[in-house]
Amino acid sequence: KQSSPAQSEFYQATEEVLECLRPLFEHHSRYHDHGIIERIVEPERQIMFRVSWLDDTGKVRVNKGYRVQFNSALGPYKGGLRFHPSVTSGTIKFLGFEQIFKNALTGLPLGGGKGGADFDPRGRSDGEIMRFCQSFMSELYRHIGPTCDVPAGDIGVGTREIGYLYGHYKRLTGRYEGILTGKGLAWGGSLGRKEATGYGAVYFAQNMLAARGDGLDGKRCLVSGAGNVAIYTIEKLHELGARPITCSDSRGTIHDPEGIDLAVLKRLKEVQRTSLEHYLNERPRARYIPVCDYPSGGHGVWHIPADVAFPCATQNELTGADARVMLANGVRCVSEGANMPSTKEAVACFLDAGIAYGPGKAANAGGVATSQLEMAQNSSMAQWPMEKVDQKLRNIMANIHQQCATTAEEFGDPSNLVLGANITGFRKVADAMIEQGLS
Ligand code: NDP
Repeated sequence: KQSSPAQSEFYQATEEVLECLRPLFEHHSRYHDHGIIERIVEPERQIMFRVSWLDDTGKVRVNKGYRVQFNSALGPYKGGLRFHPSVTSGTIKFLGFEQIFKNALTGLPLGGGKGGADFDPRGRSDGEIMRFCQSFMSELYRHIGPTCDVPAGDIGVGTREIGYLYGHYKRLTGRYEGILTGKGLAWGGSLGRKEATGYGAVYFAQNMLAARGDGLDGKRCLVSGAGNVAIYTIEKLHELGARPITCSDSRGTIHDPEGIDLAVLKRLKEVQRTSLEHYLNERPRARYIPVCDYPSGGHGVWHIPADVAFPCATQNELTGADARVMLANGVRCVSEGANMPSTKEAVACFLDAGIAYGPGKAANAGGVATSQLEMAQNSSMAQWPMEKVDQKLRNIMANIHQQCATTAEEFGDPSNLVLGANITGFRKVADAMIEQGLS
């Protein structure tokens, strides 16, 4: 049933899951009998609120804030907050829906949720960001809690924003507790959380390639995005002897055939918070492709010849036309750091070609898994060393890959990790919903 164009991303995400479930439903009528589909596509709760704040000139600004508490069958709602001007209730709903199955795949006690606002942090001063975050938390605080709903970061929400949100929660409630993850290391954060989504996407690619008798060493890798996920994907690729040759932001793409200079990228994006164009000042032999020069119907990154690809920016950034060019250029493995970055047509191209394709809900689950490790450290008032967190992350990613591959095989399509991820995640949540009765 499609009734609202504003929810097109949500329909895209639900259609993919429901299409994969067909073979499961043929053998298990109990999911029909308990009305699981009808219940699972409906959020348990959706909160929408006004966020008013003062800009630096004293002008009143107003944005829309959201939190979707989608499914709590497996644990407290967990999922990030996105601050980006493109955010609508449909965006948050699609992200929350994906989060249910991703969180189930981690094997950890996590329900699914997501939130955010149509606020554009670009060009805003620190003071403006702080006042916005404080106003956002003035409403959100009454809906979250360490055993109820624990938001994290996403696009536009990093350690700085989590800090302002956390400080205001503490001020409003007088409680110092783990109600957000992605916190600073001195005030409850976990080592390895910042790196986890990117590292996890690379570990997932390693697992996919190993299953085909291959590895990452020496591979040329395409990475899109230049934010948290992209930066730590690039870092891990360098560490493992691969060569990440691209990154991108909303204005353009960098192609550096010698390998992206991580120190320059971090300085531009984590410190100066500026455009990738300036990369050329320090790496004059690299090439900058502005958005206006992208091929029509496609993205600059995907038209550069390479072996492996990591879409790490945003949804639907990789089209069917891009996918065909990538396949013709030799890409044999795609591991999604972003949520739903490939369009439906692009996914079909990858599956038809039989390449190693890791959908976001499996390949980028390392972030939320490590958030759960942060929650565990908070509740025991401990801080684990980086090696312990990283080892757990590696095990979790290997385990997710194994489960997806085993389920894909069980349902007769061994290399189809989309099928494997959706059925594995769904079964865990659906079984818990049945055991917990109507709620
Ligand atoms: P950041 O805000 O740190 O970085 C986002 C990057 O993507 C920026 O380089 C940004 O460019 C670019 N970008 C964002 N929106 C668009 C757009 N509409 N068009 C073109 N470029 C865009 O976000 P994250 O790295 O945290 O998130 C990236 C993706 O990973 C998202 O899909 C997110 O949902 C997913 N993800 C993140 C997790 C995490 O732990 N952070 C966990 C799991 C998934 P610019 O700088 O110009 O805005």
